[in-house]
Amino acid sequence: MAVLVYLSDKLLFVTFSVIGVVSWAVWHLLTMRASHLLISRRFKNSVLISVPLRVGKLGFKETMKLAFLPTLFIFSVTSLVAEIIDYPIETFEGLVTAVVAIILLLPVAFFVPAKLVIESAGILAISKDSVNSLTAYPYIDEFLGFGAILSLALIMGKYAVTVREPAYALGVLLAFFCFILYPSLISSILYAEITYFKAVRWLKSRLRPLAAELTITVSCYHCGYKLSGVETICPNCGYPLRIA
Ligand SMILES: [Zn+2]
Repeated sequence: MAVLVYLSDKLLFVTFSVIGVVSWAVWHLLTMRASHLLISRRFKNSVLISVPLRVGKLGFKETMKLAFLPTLFIFSVTSLVAEIIDYPIETFEGLVTAVVAIILLLPVAFFVPAKLVIESAGILAISKDSVNSLTAYPYIDEFLGFGAILSLALIMGKYAVTVREPAYALGVLLAFFCFILYPSLISSILYAEITYFKAVRWLKSRLRPLAAELTITVSCYHCGYKLSGVETICPNCGYPLRIA
């Protein structure tokens, strides 16, 4: 597989490592300054509380996910654009262009770590009738998933028509994916080790959530008497409490 030969090339290895480090630096700066901008607007009037007070380091699984999602983003954008303008991504020139695309797009994928910081900071948003974990704008996930499926479908459709070997087409796509996973992995490991903790702290210092405990009580719908949850009738007013 031609792609794997290029990947083992030393120069490419160094280039990709540099791209990984530069992208991490961009992620580091932007998530420390802009993560609050990606918080979904529906929490605007919520009371924010911090549960737990401290957040630990990112684990292996989260770090891998952090590397995977920007890769998916770059994969969707690059292959979708290549499909639309009918650019042969599987040739050598195509690969060079793909490298340029990674250089341009990996730093832009800062919204992936920013989203992670928002959603793992341990902040609950309490409004009049709901308690939710703080989340980023929901379009981000859909954008990633939809873009990837669309580009994959387009590419496979094209291959099904021109090439009679779908296995080969799938192989090229898989190799391309691994090819762009490497720089993203570097950025993600650096992010997990150096930035994540600071970014969560920064977001909290910006949002200033309440350090509080959350208690939930249930009470009689008729008289408001506080219930333990095992009653069948209200001990105070005698109203039946179980739904038949
Ligand atoms: Zn009652």
